[in-house]
Amino acid sequence: MNLTLATSADPDLRTIDRPAARRACADLLRALGADPDAPGLTDTPRRMAEAYAEMLTPLPFEPTTFPNADGYDELVVAGSIPFHSLCEHHLLPFHGVAHVGYLPGNRIIGLSKLGRVVELFARDLQVQERLTQQIADWLDEHLAPRGVGVVLEAEHLCMSLRGVQKIGARTVTSALHGLVREDSRTRQEFLDLATRRIG
Ligand code: ZN
Repeated sequence: MNLTLATSADPDLRTIDRPAARRACADLLRALGADPDAPGLTDTPRRMAEAYAEMLTPLPFEPTTFPNADGYDELVVAGSIPFHSLCEHHLLPFHGVAHVGYLPGNRIIGLSKLGRVVELFARDLQVQERLTQQIADWLDEHLAPRGVGVVLEAEHLCMSLRGVQKIGARTVTSALHGLVREDSRTRQEFLDLATRRIG
């Protein structure tokens, strides 16, 4: 497919065996005391398998970067990028927004691509901390920027639906690299831009 994606910061290619997933989903329904042949459930194993397959398959994209010809040296931040992922402990969704920014070095990338990078790693069995780090590492590797900041705010259904937390409670994780971590003014500017509420 896209050979430029094959770097150490990129996810492993996943193989999804849909027939096996459908059989397993039917088995799970049975194990949960449901009859997969009951009216209303006959197509459920297929739907479940397709839903998981979709949530675990990132859309390929061309991570085109450009020379920073104008020498832009201010923070570039894409805030409140919606994302969803699957918690690897429960296979239940967690979803929220990502704030992604970098301080350009010699390369820049289109703003819309920052959302695609989030999705590249979100469509996987994940924990929020690793997802946050992987997005930051990808930007480090592909842009060699002077700094990177990633903040994720997400609601985990495995927590909010199971009584540990209230519905709507959000978990916040961050990965700050380079000058976004080391320079207090840059760090504060990133966090202000990233967490600025819209509306
Ligand atoms: Zn979980």
